[in-house]
Amino acid sequence: MNQPQSFFLADETATLALGAAFASCMQPGLVIYLDGDLGAGKTTLVRGLLRALGDDGPVKSPTYTLVEIHVVSGLNLYHFDFYRFNQPEEYLDAGLDEYFTGDGVCLVEWPEHAEPYLPAADLHIRLQVDGAGRTAHIEVGSEPGQRCLTNSALPAATSSATLPPA
Ligand code: ADP
Ligand code: MG
Repeated sequence: MNQPQSFFLADETATLALGAAFASCMQPGLVIYLDGDLGAGKTTLVRGLLRALGDDGPVKSPTYTLVEIHVVSGLNLYHFDFYRFNQPEEYLDAGLDEYFTGDGVCLVEWPEHAEPYLPAADLHIRLQVDGAGRTAHIEVGSEPGQRCLTNSALPAATSSATLPPA
C-alpha cells in the first residue's frame, strides 16, 4: 500500500521501544505479521509492546504453545509463533483461526508458515539483522493498519531513521 517505513534498532532497548510505540494504537481486530529469522527480535518487540501496555508478567515465546494469550489494558492480545508448523493445515487443525475473529489483537511470528489460511496483515513488520543491531521495515496493509501507524508513537515517516531508546 505505502512505502515501507524503516528504522535502525541499535540494540535490544531500541527493539523494545519500537514495540512500545505501538501501545497507543492497539485495537481489537488488528492483525500484525512479524517477519524475520530466528533471533531477529520478533518476540522482543512483542515484549516491548506488552510492557508498555502494563503487562508485567513473563512474556514467553509461543514457540511450543503456538499461542500465548495476554489480557492487559482491556485488550486481548494473541501472540502466535508458527515456526514449528510443517504444513499450513496445522493452523486449521489446531483451531487457531478462531482467534482471528476480531475480538483481540493478533501478533504473528512466522506468518508464512500458515499461508494461505491466515487473514491478511493490517501491519507487516520485518526485522533483519543489521551488523550488531537490527533494521525494522514497517508496511501498511489496510486502513486500520494506517490508522494504527499514524496513532503510534513512532517518529514521523522517513525512509530510514534511528529509533531513539525509550
Ligand atoms: P525472535 O523472536 O525473532 O526469534 P527474539 O526476540 O527471541 O527473536 O531474540 C532476539 C535476540 O536478539 C535477543 O537475544 C535480543 O536481546 C536480541 N536483540 C533484539 N533486538 C536487538 C537489536 N536491535 N540489536 C541487537 N540485539 C537485539
Ligand atoms: Mg520469537
